[in-house]
Amino acid sequence: MDNPGTAYEHNTHHICRRCLLEELGEDALLNSLEELKAAMPEEERAEPMEYARRLDICRRCDELNSGTCGKCGCYVEFRALKKRMHCPHEDGKW
Ligand code: SF4
Repeated sequence: MDNPGTAYEHNTHHICRRCLLEELGEDALLNSLEELKAAMPEEERAEPMEYARRLDICRRCDELNSGTCGKCGCYVEFRALKKRMHCPHEDGKW
């Protein structure tokens, strides 16, 4: 367990519904995502604090499923990085 004592405890060799990709140990997928994130122009990115805030909300959301959003199918770590994006949940969580 990487984060003992948190709600996000997981084994990196198993699927964890409530984890982001960075917490799952899915290296190839995570590398692809990191390449996509790196290719996003700076002006299109959410501010780092806003990005972290969005991901904190996703971590606590019942729609998070192994790094993807159940409402739209996006990888939340990519969707949340785009400044102009919003949460697709009917409650508009971010
Ligand atoms: S519904 Fe919104 S808060 Fe929930 S996982 Fe999707 S983007 Fe994140």
